[in-house]
Formats: sequence, C-alpha cells, structure tokens
Amino acid sequence: MLLWLASRSSRGYDPRPMSDSPALPVGVVCDFDGTVTVLDIGDEISRHFGGDAHWQTQKAAFLRHELDTRGIILGIYTSVFASEAEVRKFAAEHAVLRKGFLELLSAAHETGAPFILASGGLRQYVEAVLEAHVPEPLRSHIELRANEGLFGDGPLGVHFPWATRSRVLGCSSCGTCKRVSVADLRARGVQKILGIGDGFADRCLLERSDLAFARKDSYLARWCTEKKVAHTEFEELFDAARAVLDTAKR
Ligand SMILES: [Mg+2]
Ligand SMILES: [Zn+2]
Repeated sequence: MLLWLASRSSRGYDPRPMSDSPALPVGVVCDFDGTVTVLDIGDEISRHFGGDAHWQTQKAAFLRHELDTRGIILGIYTSVFASEAEVRKFAAEHAVLRKGFLELLSAAHETGAPFILASGGLRQYVEAVLEAHVPEPLRSHIELRANEGLFGDGPLGVHFPWATRSRVLGCSSCGTCKRVSVADLRARGVQKILGIGDGFADRCLLERSDLAFARKDSYLARWCTEKKVAHTEFEELFDAARAVLDTAKR
C-alpha cells in the first residue's frame, strides 16, 4: 500500500488508477443527516439539549451567510452540555432510517462497492444510530467519515479531522469536505461514483459524482436545478440501490 501511494504521488495529480489496483465499477459517497435519516439528528440534538431558540438563531445566521458550514456545525452545539452517553441515547432513540437505505447498503455490500458515509455530523451520534438500526454484516461495510464531538466540562465542541485534506483539495468552507471521499474512491480505482445528499455541504460531493442523487424538495435539489447539475431526486433510496446494482453489472 505504501509503495502504491508513493508511486501515485510521483505521478502528480493523474486521476487514473494504477494498473495494479483492482477496477471497481462503482462506489458510494452518502450523506447522513436528512439523507440516511429522515430528520437531521444534529439539529434535533441541538434543539433538544441546547434549546430551540439558540438553534433558530444559529440557522438564521447561516442563512444570512454569516456562518459557513464549519461555523454552523460549531454553532449549533455551543449551548449543548449533555454527556456523550446522553447524546448517543437520544440519537439512537430518535433516528428513523429512510426507506431503501438498508437496500442501498445491501447492494453495495453484495457487489463489493465501497460505501463511504461522509457526514458533517458527529461520529459519536452517527455510530449510535448505526449500532441501533443497521444489522451486521451491513454495518461493517460502512466506512464512516465524520467530525468528532468533544465532550467535556464545557459546551459540546467539534474537531474536524478532515479539515487539512479538505483545504488541500480546495475547500475551506465545509470543514469536512466530501470531495476528499470522492478523491479517495477515485484513487482506489472506482470508476463511477454515486453521490447522495440533501444539504449545503453536499454541493462539493454532487458536483464531482458521476451519478448524483438529491433529496426531493431539499436545498441541494434546488441548487442542482439552478446550477444545471444533472441529478435524480429521491424520497426513498430504492432507486439509488438499483443504480448501484446496475452499475456494478456493467
Ligand atoms: Mg444532510
Ligand atoms: Zn466542500
């Protein structure tokens, strides 16, 4: 692996997979909040533990462009003083998975398609939801990339483990940019990337996906239409599951 990485970097930014890397016809990069789950769990945590008024204030600042994606992720938790155990329990109890998600994951598992769950949410609550609602072996097929909740004496803080790589790849507004996941799958030899999302932070993902899925009536779907980004709109994830199976067969 190290040799492979070394030889790649000597080739600069050539996006072609090395000939010795296995060709993977399809891979998935999927958002979590509002995409895998019906509601945005991060928002629900903020409102429940930190108060609806604080959450509304943060959202309004975001809509006025006073906060970027990283800023809103930090902002919604500054009035949350709950413990990690409380946050995990709340998330597991309140999350409802979108219909078709298990089928989508199962399609990726069956065909050996990599599945990156790229979330601007916090690893701890995403894991709690997956543990409660996604059976094995499907759960182990998920490669989770999320931010880290920093639980301590003060308010809930957030660490962005992917911030440096996001900036290197040209994005400083997402905090954890999903373009990093797209680039990594391409480097592994994935030929077609299915990007799935609903929000502001999924723009960088859908722009770079070969098959883009945006949740119907979401910010992302409106943005795709405006920017003429070809996309499929979804309410359930069965079409995305079918797209994985069809693309894997080709
Ligand atoms: Mg989302
Ligand atoms: Zn970005």
